[in-house]
Amino acid sequence: NETAKQIDKLIRNVPDFPKPGIQFKDITPVLQDAKTFALVIKTLADGLRNERLTAVAGIESRGFIFASALATELGVGLVLLRKPGKLPWKTLRATYQLEYGTDAIEIHEDAVKEGDRVAVIDDLLATGGTATAAACLLRDAGAEVVKAMFVIELDFLQGREKLRTAGFPAIESLLHY
Ligand code: IMP
Repeated sequence: NETAKQIDKLIRNVPDFPKPGIQFKDITPVLQDAKTFALVIKTLADGLRNERLTAVAGIESRGFIFASALATELGVGLVLLRKPGKLPWKTLRATYQLEYGTDAIEIHEDAVKEGDRVAVIDDLLATGGTATAAACLLRDAGAEVVKAMFVIELDFLQGREKLRTAGFPAIESLLHY
């Protein structure tokens, strides 16, 4: 569709970043283009307007960019999912498997409460480890994770399957590679 095409034109492929053999999808040109950035936020918002959300939850760090604009567009609060050791108050943590080793993310323990309806937002869905840990953390903290939305999804890494298996089947991405 037209939205996906317009975003695709502005995604920069960076070879061998952050490691040899990885091709990084760089979204910064999208942010620099006012019309396309606004289109991304509007399209993400359109996917969430009927969900009666109480908050959107952004994953550090590029997820913050989209989630914060989305929160103001939808008129809901913003929850931060951060790398360990960054949040100043009491936190809940979820650890997840990487190719080599583990990683973790945290939220403030009062970031969500029972009955909250939250959407997880990130720039890109790859293997799904990060988003699945984020969704589990929000669920453990009492929220209902009603949807996960991404600007880009790397279909061949099957992150969608990981989210689905963990009990989060509502997934939408604006652009697929
Ligand atoms: P996953 O946990 O394997 O799904 O990786 C997703 C996380 O890594 C997200 O927070 C993304 O921001 C980041 N990420 C992985 N690959 C890329 C990329 O090519 N471009 C931008 N971010 C990426």
